[in-house]
Amino acid sequence: AMNYRHAYHAGNFADVVKHAILALLLEHLKAKDKPFRVIDTHAGIGLYDLTATEAGKTGEWQGGIGKLLRGDGKPAIDLSRKLAEALAPYLATIAAANPNGKLKHYPGSPWLVRHLLRDTDRLTAVEMHPADHATLAALFAGDIQVKAIELDGWLALGSFVPPKERRGLLLIDPPFEQPDEFKTMFERFEKAYQRWPTGIYALWYPIKDIGAVANFHKRLAESGITKILGAELWVRERTTPDTFNGTGIVICNPPWQLDRTLDTLLTGLAPILGETDKAGRRVWWIRGET
Ligand code: SAM
Repeated sequence: AMNYRHAYHAGNFADVVKHAILALLLEHLKAKDKPFRVIDTHAGIGLYDLTATEAGKTGEWQGGIGKLLRGDGKPAIDLSRKLAEALAPYLATIAAANPNGKLKHYPGSPWLVRHLLRDTDRLTAVEMHPADHATLAALFAGDIQVKAIELDGWLALGSFVPPKERRGLLLIDPPFEQPDEFKTMFERFEKAYQRWPTGIYALWYPIKDIGAVANFHKRLAESGITKILGAELWVRERTTPDTFNGTGIVICNPPWQLDRTLDTLLTGLAPILGETDKAGRRVWWIRGET
């Protein structure tokens, strides 16, 4: 059953971290002229209304983007120069999604990516929920740079990799509704990597069960795949069981010096997004270059 709907969670602390990193990865891809493709295997609806019933029911965005921006679109907090720099491509995308200045629309990964593409770049956005796919397809109707496809993202991973551009980013952002999602993600990533070892990969995961997270990292470290960076931010003690304590991203083939930028980003964000004094972050090489 597909119970997960991202509309309840859009703009939460995990989205802030994920989308800020995604925007940095896109900026890196744009530094070279060669066209690229982004494949988003679990795309969601693309653009979220923070004033809608779903977002209002959980209020999760108030613990995320709401900590950075006020309802009138003005900064909710003063950012250090370094943090402001690391957040700039992300915050510019949010501003673009809200042309009248107020914070109403929250851009999901497909909208964010599309906003940052050049004329020559492409996005493939895959969403399996029929209603969410229909919303996503309508958002990009007539846009020749975007393909919104109704398909199982795990199948898409098998059939769309490598993209013909041979350059680009694969975002894997599943809902973690299934108990074996870590295993599936590792296995599908490993297969995709074998066919496209030069792609950039971003794998999102929740920090709930730290044993499952550690096991995932161990499998990655022992996979033989090199250049795997980990980045995590937790908003409270990581050991509280069965709660969504933090957010993690694994980046394979990260751009040069991204580790340093992410350290700046997460060091700055942890006290802002943190809910207790046990909040924290880490950026580390799960497996370095050999
Ligand atoms: N990537 C989006 C973003 O950053 O804005 C959020 C994605 S949300 C965490 C996960 C999405 O995956 C949901 O929209 C859900 O309907 C969809 N989904 C669940 N199972 C899927 C599958 N097997 N294949 C593709 N999409 C799936």
